This record gives sequence, C-alpha cells and structure tokens, in this order.
Amino acid sequence: MAALLLTGGRVVDPANRLDAKTDVLISEGKITAVGAEAAKKAPRVAERMAVTGLVVCPGLIDLHVHLREPGQTSKETLATGTAAAARGGFTSVVCMPNTSPAIDNAGTVALIRERAAQQGIVNVFVTGAISKGIAGEELAPIGGLKRAGIVAITDDGHCVQNNDLMRRACEYAKMFDLPVMDHCQDYSLVTDGVMHEGYWSTVLGLRGWPAAGEEVMVARNILLAELTGAKVHCQHLSAAGSVALLREAKKRGVPISGEACPHHFTLTDAAVAGSEKFWANDGKTLNAQCSTLNCSCEWPKYDTNFKMNPPLRSARDREAILEGLADSTIEILCSDHAPHCDYEKEVEFDYAPFGITGLETELALSLMQLVHAKRISLPDLIAKFTVNPARLLNLKKGTLSVGADADVTVFDPDAEWVFERAATASKSANSPFYGWKLKGRAVATIVGGKVVFVEQPEPATV
Ligand SMILES: [Zn+2]
Repeated sequence: MAALLLTGGRVVDPANRLDAKTDVLISEGKITAVGAEAAKKAPRVAERMAVTGLVVCPGLIDLHVHLREPGQTSKETLATGTAAAARGGFTSVVCMPNTSPAIDNAGTVALIRERAAQQGIVNVFVTGAISKGIAGEELAPIGGLKRAGIVAITDDGHCVQNNDLMRRACEYAKMFDLPVMDHCQDYSLVTDGVMHEGYWSTVLGLRGWPAAGEEVMVARNILLAELTGAKVHCQHLSAAGSVALLREAKKRGVPISGEACPHHFTLTDAAVAGSEKFWANDGKTLNAQCSTLNCSCEWPKYDTNFKMNPPLRSARDREAILEGLADSTIEILCSDHAPHCDYEKEVEFDYAPFGITGLETELALSLMQLVHAKRISLPDLIAKFTVNPARLLNLKKGTLSVGADADVTVFDPDAEWVFERAATASKSANSPFYGWKLKGRAVATIVGGKVVFVEQPEPATV
C-alpha cells in the first residue's frame, strides 16, 4: 500500500494532547510519523494531500448506529450504512443488535463481521444483545458473544425491565470485560408515549413520554453499576434529570457513562408542532445560522421525522444536555442513526417507527451547537468522537499515535453547506435536517490508510 502524507493541517489528537499545525505520514495502513519528521520520513513516491486550513484528527467513531443487517435491508445495508458513515467522516461504527433476527448468538455476530469485511467501507464493530431475542426475559449467551467478537452488550431499541436480569447481565459483562449499554426507558411510565410529555404533547393531542421514564432507568443503572462494578453506559440521554443523576454518580466514582445525540441538543419538542412554532419558540436561539440564511428548512406539524426514542424534549432539557457535554458529565457523542423506509414514516404520527438517520449530519450539528457556539473546544469535541468511545469499548482506535491503524478524518469545521436529500448515501431518507444550512463537513475519510471518501469540490461556476 502506498504512503500518504497529509501536509499543513491542524492536527488534533486528544489522546496525545496534540493540537498543532503539522504533517501526518501514513504507510502500510499505519500512522508512521506525526510532526516535523513526517515530511522527512516520507518516501519520494508518497502521495501528498495538502490539507491546509483543515482539521486532521483520529478517525471518528460512532458507537450507536443501526445498520439493519441482517433482516431489514430495505432500510439500510452494511454497504449503504458504512457509505453514509464515510461521508460523515466516520471510520468506525458500532452496530446495534436489534436486527431480525437479533444479534443474540455467535453465528449472527460472525455473519455480520464477515459481511462487513466484504461490503463495508469503514470498520464495523458489533454489539450483542443482553437478552435472548431482546425480549428481556432470559440472558443471551454473553461469553459466547464475547468470543465471537462483540464489543459491548445492549438491548437497544428495548430496555431490560427486570432489575434482577439486568444485575446478572452486569455481573456477566464484568467477568467478560464488556461494557453494558442501556437504552433507558421504563415501560410502566412511558407506556405508549410518542413524544415528550409536556406543553406540546397536550396541545397536539399526542401521548406523552415523560422524562422520568428515562431518569428512573438511569438511576437504576447507577445503582447496578455501583453494586456490580460493571461499566454501565446510558445511551442517547435526553432529559435534564438524567444529566444531574450521572453528574452526581460520576463524582462518587461510579463506573457509569453517558452519550448524547445531536438531535436532542439541536431540536426541542416544539419541532413536532411544525417549523413555524419551532422557530418562534426555540429555533432562533438554537440555529441562528439557519434562521438568518433563508434556508428551506420547513416542515408541517406532526412530521414523523421528528419522532425518535427517546423523544425531543423541552428547551430546559436540551440546555441540560449541552451543559452535561460542556462539563464532561457526558463524554461521548453519537448519532443513533436509525434508518426507516419512506412508506414506514409516511403514516400518522402514532404509527410511525421511532428514529432518524444521523451519520451524515452529526459532525456538523455537534460543531455548530458545541464548538461554534463556544461551549467546548475543538479538541474536546474530537475527544467525544474518538478517544472516549474507544476507551469505553476497549477499541485500539481513536488516536494518531505512531503505530496505530491509519484511521484518519479530515474535516473543514467552517464549511457551510446544505444537507440535500438527493445527496445522502444512506438507503433511507428519514432525516429532519434536509434543507438545513449546516457548518462543518468531512473532507476526507481514511480507513486503514485507504481513502474511502473525498468531498468533491463544488463544480466551478463559469
Ligand atoms: Zn435506543
């Protein structure tokens, strides 16, 4: 494999506390030099990519993605899902086990790993189910799943309601050195709620999904992490109370962690009432970029592309998630990329499946709400997409250390662009962000030394 020299970029590697304008040399699929010696060590035949003005960082990792294989390939496949990841600047994704059948046995893990190696263009790491069939009744064979190569267990999409079963899962996970990831949802509180329980659910006449339905399970997970010593990770946090619980538990040294998704800290529940109400209530403060630039982000009431689980919450919850990200209570960013076919989403709000796509917009939305809004530094943002998820999942990824796999993301934090439905690489198009003016974009995605995505320059205007 040829050598590649990235010259003149702002190289940010939080794992090594590096933030400098310098060069990176890649050869034989590994990082071979970073800094002044990179150019000297580069063989004469090395390919050169000038990245002046751009950020060069360890390949981004998204630890919460639904790739829908096996069994739901009308929504997404390993090929299309990893193509969307590459476009978004992600070199590694972690796929969730709520497929059909569920990833609750070693054979299915082997199948996905094999197919991902053939058809995927980025690294795919696999999670296994906590319970057989994600039914929440009987533990999946956690040891066998670990031997087959999973990196964590989760029943994502569902939540284990039986606290004793969850305790046993934590005990096994600890034995096998696996983190337990949990989609926090108490079924008795949430019942058939479809949006955040509050003012807008009342106005719209939709059944409410109260914040407490999440917070109860975050509290349960903290207690079980403390009891068992297992690493427990709370997925896609949406509620202010969850952040407060997590902050307090981390202070006590409980092995608990959390993640947040851009839609929860970009949008609020007013979005379900339509764009007019959303912009009037929250929009202008949330996306000044968009509201001042006359972009075409308009949508009607009850748009099912604003239906996800957990739901978009109040402005106060959104603010708390941002604060949690700023003070490192929440250390990981991810998309919860959840593709669904148009015909599934084009139904009444109550009947539509939960979830939106996110791989191609998460970097821009995170940059906008966190870095451009001056809440966190650029290296802190990159850490939440690289070294932090790698550490949680024990992945040998997320750094530009010499000898590491040459997974590298090059992005322009200031590039302005409009997310167009026609340009998406995902097989599905259920994003609420089409037509939005975004700021920040992946320019090149390099996996194991191979360039798998390069942003094509806009055609020159004559
Ligand atoms: Zn979930």
